[in-house]
Amino acid sequence: MILQGIAASGGVGLGRAVCVREEKLDYSGVAYSGKESEKDRLQAALEEFEDRTDAMAKRIRERVGEKEAEILIGQITMLADPFMHSQMEEAIDNGSCAEAAVDAICTMYADMFAGVEDELMRQRATDVRDIRDRLLAVLLGVTGVDLSQLPAGSVLVARDLTPSMTVGLSRENIAGILTEVGGRTSHSAILARALELPAVLSVPKALDLIKDGDGLIVDGSEGKAILNPDESTRAGYLKRQQEFFARRAALEVYRDRATVDADGKVYHLYANIGSVAEAEAAAQSGAEGIGLFRTEFLFMNRTSLPDEGVQYEAYQAVSKIMAGKEVIIRTLDVGGDKAIEYLGMDKEDNPFLGHRAIRYCLDRPELYKVQLRALLRAGAGEKNIKIMLPLVTCVEEVRAARELLDQCKDELDAEGLPYDRDIKVGIMAETPSAALIADLLAKESDFFSIGTNDLTQYTMAVDRGNAKVEKLYKTFQPSVLRSIRNVIAAAKEAGIPVGMCGEAAADPCLAPLLMTWGLDEFSVSISSVLDTRANIHRWRGEKAKRVTQEAMGLSTAAGVEGYLSAAVSD
Ligand code: PEP
Ligand code: MG
Repeated sequence: MILQGIAASGGVGLGRAVCVREEKLDYSGVAYSGKESEKDRLQAALEEFEDRTDAMAKRIRERVGEKEAEILIGQITMLADPFMHSQMEEAIDNGSCAEAAVDAICTMYADMFAGVEDELMRQRATDVRDIRDRLLAVLLGVTGVDLSQLPAGSVLVARDLTPSMTVGLSRENIAGILTEVGGRTSHSAILARALELPAVLSVPKALDLIKDGDGLIVDGSEGKAILNPDESTRAGYLKRQQEFFARRAALEVYRDRATVDADGKVYHLYANIGSVAEAEAAAQSGAEGIGLFRTEFLFMNRTSLPDEGVQYEAYQAVSKIMAGKEVIIRTLDVGGDKAIEYLGMDKEDNPFLGHRAIRYCLDRPELYKVQLRALLRAGAGEKNIKIMLPLVTCVEEVRAARELLDQCKDELDAEGLPYDRDIKVGIMAETPSAALIADLLAKESDFFSIGTNDLTQYTMAVDRGNAKVEKLYKTFQPSVLRSIRNVIAAAKEAGIPVGMCGEAAADPCLAPLLMTWGLDEFSVSISSVLDTRANIHRWRGEKAKRVTQEAMGLSTAAGVEGYLSAAVSD
């Protein structure tokens, strides 16, 4: 039986299912022992929770990494919120036992987070449910399954992979992960990728369909699982698993190599990140810089704006981690599919065409200047920060942002604070308008970075999140390719560097075109760095040029994609 899900972490895992069903955390038999005594029980449970979580974070930090440990530390911080604590005490004052108080307040927060459209916010719901269940377990004295004791070759099947569950996971005993919920950017997916465990997420009713001990194959590259496979299917997947390991091992030789094509022409290969922790991972991935730091993640998962100090710390930390290498930091790209609750933005009929990104920031100069000041100041240390403006459609926007930047410089001069006076300011080329007037924008910008995720969406007039129109969402469409070519040509003409930070930068089929047109920098997700370097290594300029000419003579996306796929595997 084939089960379909989301491909969250690559590779193939074969083994026997171990189903982790939710613990029975029944407190209906617990009697209310009075206000003070229940509050004491709550306090003791909170302390015990903090100790246990702290210990788990330490183990995760040693075995997996800092970023993953931060998820658990985040839980302690969340629970330390005095408001949440006082709400629990209030429930106790109103006659609830400590268990009921924890359950009610955590469930309320989890439901609130789950109802938000933004995926990152929704992940908070998983965290709060994890906190609730573990707090209830402490209060009720229930001990959970110890995943570190599972036999080798276990395929973990759970509703969700919670951060606390991952403590016991290791590649020695876990062959793969399958969950009922979670998307590609959920914590589960991040953790699975960090552990390099194949994972398929969002398989509906997995816990109803799969029993403990069932044979199970998880294909994390294709996003599917095979329940009780026959011998020949197993043999086929074993072969694919070996091929995956061999491919990954072969890529290791590219980690410390320069990014050059077969003729020796040099390119820059950067990574896209969303946090300081990811900068650490980028530094180890073989990336030569940061081509896109999505700063909106700094603004999410909080209840108020990060002030200048908080932002300064984050930008400076990334700058230091990448000392000697370029760090391109994009200013707040809010709106569209990235909602930030506390900004109180109005609901719009067409959010992707609405008051978002640079448009929103220019209309809120008091908010935007906090970020610009933090960026200017963080630039003073290593002098490796560049500022990038999102969703630019006209020259006026670049000028207005530069005007605000000048105001910030004057203020910092007056305050005597050090900053990078010569900080470079570039734009994301991600709208049809920007592609059409790339020559005009090039005169106002220090660099371009092509955002193909949005450029494809806006050029094709197709919502990038709407599955019904997905077949039109193709960077291989001749209109999108011509736009990309136009942007690169304008940058070359003006003598400014041009990169690409949209997902297309990692597409091996597009590499010959981008190289032929003269793209200077490819910025890709951390897990695609070595693959992309290997792809670039394969091409000779002459051949890439011939392939590009042929591809650009075709008139359909399917034609272009088909031709390029064949040319790449040639
Ligand atoms: C893009 O649009 O290509 C891009 C890199 O930015 P985001 O995906 O954050 O919109
Ligand atoms: Mg974009």
